[in-house]
Amino acid sequence: MSPRDAIIIDVETSTAVKARYSAADAIVYRCAWNNEHSQACGIFIGGTHKNILSHLRRCHGVGFSTREDINCLWGSCLRAEHLKIGSIPRHVATHLGIRSKCSGCGRVMSREDAVQDHIKKSPGCVGAIVEMVPGPEARLIVSAHR
Ligand SMILES: [Zn+2]
Ligand SMILES: [Zn+2]
Ligand SMILES: [Zn+2]
Repeated sequence: MSPRDAIIIDVETSTAVKARYSAADAIVYRCAWNNEHSQACGIFIGGTHKNILSHLRRCHGVGFSTREDINCLWGSCLRAEHLKIGSIPRHVATHLGIRSKCSGCGRVMSREDAVQDHIKKSPGCVGAIVEMVPGPEARLIVSAHR
């Protein structure tokens, strides 16, 4: 094991690998999903909806049936009822404090789909994209390839 591996050892593998082999830095967050002993997971995960969902699936067994309701076990979440698998990533993103920004006018909103809607309806923001605004607990893994 190299020293670099030791530094990023509790980052989820797919995210750590991306930071090592691509030129992009990775932004990670500490997972606070509770295990069966009510201990927070503690692994660092990427902040995209895809990252969140794949981590919850792999490490916490969430969402193997798309029709079951899911209890959010994140920290002391009070909305621990009737979540569907499709709304879990967006819900967890709110725990991480991740917001979305219009690259055209810089407007920041909590929901990605709200920004997409804004771009569609704003002539001044044609061609703008949705940028992720990291939450307060974000940590940066600097790429080894810059
Ligand atoms: Zn976790
Ligand atoms: Zn929650
Ligand atoms: Zn805009």
